[in-house]
Amino acid sequence: MKALVYHGPGNKSWEEVPDAVVKEPTDVVVRIDTTTICGTDLHILKGDVPAVTDGRILGHEGVGTITEVGPAVQNFAPGDRVIISCICACGSCSYCHQGLYAHCLADEGASGIGWIFGHLIDGTQAELVRVPFADNSLYKVPEGVSDEAAVMLSDILPTGFEIGVRYGRVKPGDVVAVVGAGPVGLASIMTAGLYGAARVIAIDLDDNRLTQAKEFGASDTVNSGDADWAEQVMAMTDGMGVDVAIEAVGIPDTFTYCTKIVRPGGSVANVGVHGKPVELALQDLWIMDVQITTGLVSTSTTAMLLKLVAQHKLPAEKFATHRFALDDIMSAYDTFGRAAETGALKVVMTR
Ligand code: NAD
Ligand code: ZN
Repeated sequence: MKALVYHGPGNKSWEEVPDAVVKEPTDVVVRIDTTTICGTDLHILKGDVPAVTDGRILGHEGVGTITEVGPAVQNFAPGDRVIISCICACGSCSYCHQGLYAHCLADEGASGIGWIFGHLIDGTQAELVRVPFADNSLYKVPEGVSDEAAVMLSDILPTGFEIGVRYGRVKPGDVVAVVGAGPVGLASIMTAGLYGAARVIAIDLDDNRLTQAKEFGASDTVNSGDADWAEQVMAMTDGMGVDVAIEAVGIPDTFTYCTKIVRPGGSVANVGVHGKPVELALQDLWIMDVQITTGLVSTSTTAMLLKLVAQHKLPAEKFATHRFALDDIMSAYDTFGRAAETGALKVVMTR
């Protein structure tokens, strides 16, 4: 089979590798029909994720068709069209019992991290992928849901919803600010309405992303390059700040922005993956009753979000801006890597 293989920082190639096969009784093999690239894949290629070693097939998002099932798999059969969740869950460890699949204790490597595709085991940017704990890590694609919509449920939609909107405790009438209008921030913007946000303010440096944010449900936009950006945000509240500030960039500045615009009693939900220490102004925040949350997506809301996508309540297919053949994945990486120039949100590769 062909796959996108990581060969150390800055190096990757689309090359011939041995076919994926069932290794454990709970595995299945999926033929990838549609996959995409995540900002995290770019982090890996920069060398920011040292756990990813030379020879690893990248990718943790995908939709495909099952070709082989292990003898212990109960819920799936060859021919089933499935969404591959970015998190693999055994379903029976103590974390899985809490629905905190992000910390499944049984995953390969036993690191207590449920994100293993394209990280600790071979991933989805390939013609075939082995899926561990298939019964708890795959979702059948309902009739009428396109691959392009379904693939957004592998990672970005549950991430924006669980770690942004839910951890941020968005409630009816809230003013929500989302800092960073990339695919993950846009997923928070798209799902903030599910809990009744009255106003959703998208904040980004890139005007093109801000224009896109309106299409995803932002009521207002603010360019954080403006000297008075924080005043602009305050003017959209009662002057006290936003109820919920969602960080979806992953740099110290944007986390600080969130703590500056949140109101007393409000929430800051950090979604971004940080590579550097971040200063926390606890001396100012303690007296404000601000709640701060962090998290790795558990994908515990995938089935619920999929119902909304199937009923056309969430237009998930909107994230797909560029399309490539799977074996043209090197061009897809180039387009995605230059998102500021190309306007790419999610690049979709199809077999
Ligand atoms: P992205 O790089 O596509 O988008 C980031 C956006 O932030 C861009 O639109 C960029 O213009 C904007 N930005 C950069 N600097 C800014 C600034 N100073 N002020 C305002 N906006 C600024 O990233 P993405 O794919 O949307 O992912 C967002 C973050 O979420 C990343 O850190 C990613 O690694 C992380 N992530 C977290 C989880 C999780 O489980 N917690 C899962 C997936 C992704
Ligand atoms: Zn588990």
